[in-house]
Amino acid sequence: MPISSEPTAQDVLQRVFGYDHFRGHQADVVNQVVAGGDALVLMPTGGGKSLCFQIPALVRAGTGVVVSPLIALMQDQVDALTELGVRAAYLNSTQDMATVREVEHAFVSGQLDMLYVAPERLLTDRCLSLLARGNISLFAIDEAHCVSQWGHDFRPEYLGLSLLGERWPDVPRIALTATATEATRIEIIERLGLHDAQVFVSSFDRPNIRYRIVEKNDPRRQLLDFVKNEHAGDAGVIYCMSRNKVEETAEFLCQQGIDAMAYHAGMDAQRRAANQARFLREDGVVMVATIAFGMGIDKPDVRFVAHLDMPKSVEGYYQETGRAGRDGLPAQAWMAYGLQDVVQQRRMIDESTGDDAYKRRSAAMLDAMLGLCETVSCRRTRLLNYFGQVSTACGNCDTCLEPPQAWDGTIAAQKALSAVYRMWKERGQRFGTAHLIDLLRGKKTEKIGQNRHDELSVFGIGADLSDNEWRSVLRQLIAQGLLSVDHESFGTLGLTEASRAVLKGEHTLMLRREPPKPARGRGSSTS
Ligand code: ADP
Ligand code: ZN
Repeated sequence: MPISSEPTAQDVLQRVFGYDHFRGHQADVVNQVVAGGDALVLMPTGGGKSLCFQIPALVRAGTGVVVSPLIALMQDQVDALTELGVRAAYLNSTQDMATVREVEHAFVSGQLDMLYVAPERLLTDRCLSLLARGNISLFAIDEAHCVSQWGHDFRPEYLGLSLLGERWPDVPRIALTATATEATRIEIIERLGLHDAQVFVSSFDRPNIRYRIVEKNDPRRQLLDFVKNEHAGDAGVIYCMSRNKVEETAEFLCQQGIDAMAYHAGMDAQRRAANQARFLREDGVVMVATIAFGMGIDKPDVRFVAHLDMPKSVEGYYQETGRAGRDGLPAQAWMAYGLQDVVQQRRMIDESTGDDAYKRRSAAMLDAMLGLCETVSCRRTRLLNYFGQVSTACGNCDTCLEPPQAWDGTIAAQKALSAVYRMWKERGQRFGTAHLIDLLRGKKTEKIGQNRHDELSVFGIGADLSDNEWRSVLRQLIAQGLLSVDHESFGTLGLTEASRAVLKGEHTLMLRREPPKPARGRGSSTS
């Protein structure tokens, strides 16, 4: 065959995609797959995973079959490729029969460079026999972490994909993901049978993103200050946990003169699509959203991502914050984090219908997230460490820029734990955090009176700390597993195995103290 009939990867990069150079590991990955080998690619969001399989699919003879879990994403990619003159199509459940037949015919007659298929579709008899009739250049398995039961996106259909390697042993497979924990990596290799794959791990560092996690005490106000003072006129995404909170926050921001919109799965599809389109098209729009928003959104100039609620895992946090600053210019990942986040997330795990193994996994993932929030050392180091990467203090996160103090919280912890113990021991009662703080601070509230808690020896023993300081102490005790939260009795607190050692003074407990806040001349606030 004359050499000129086979384009090189570099030709395709320039002629089809219009880029001069490969980025990071792209060239190595492309070479591996073009040569017929398997690859596992771990690259952060925005790192350029798509080219890793699109280019080999164009260089090798036959059709590249891409497994992708998100229908919307599939359509976007196919549209973009078609625009570039690539012969691409997809098969999914939104198509009518005539369209399906057309795509199938194009595939079998060798007229497609790339065919996108959802995993559940691919595993049907119809699709497998279709694939057997065509010429396949490679299989790309996008979002490969969906095969992992450890992960936050587990999709059972992905487990069936091991069949590709068994039926088509000579077709190279490339699996891609932005989740790089060791456990996930091992699981992908095992479950997809990628033992011979070359593994490519990119750096997960996003040096232009400044990480900040502030203590939550008046979240809306804090958010407004952040947006107004630091990001006036910028595009940004604000994540909230519930749909209600999304709506309320968007409305609040609009009232305050910020161009904000809402996005969540409960909205009708038309309004959702319109809001998303506006966010992508116009400058300086702020999107308030649940995590339903973001997968596949490629807007380069998002200047900030804010979290009003803590994500339930570091993977989630990394993925969501990773939508900021894709253009490489300075961007911020800001989060307000407080006592209620810890209580709420612990409760959600307790209340979930998953089995014990699931709960243990979720709890371990939450602990890692809490560790990131409570750390007194560099956030980036901690974050990258989680993904198996070693780094030094970054100088571009809040703990590097304004180091929080660590203080000896042993006595404060003992006071709080003793108060919980006394209420239980002497009265058989359990209460939540608000009442515990009133008790510690010696406030004669109605509830204190009714329960005669002012007669307990622990009443008022914590008058030396403020409400906010106590919230911070309790938050850290819960985060560290020294206090348990019982959801079955309205979030009341109890001691744990680990509390004992602290009560007995067997070890010192260092706690995080937030750096002093800039004076704002406002009164007290609540969380
Ligand atoms: P991922 O799937 O890893 O999140 P994408 O494949 O969507 O990332 O790529 C992110 C962005 O980077 C896209 O806009 C893409 O066009 C761009 N990109 C990827 N590779 C290159 C390259 N070699 N040169 C320039 N831009 C690139
Ligand atoms: Zn840092």
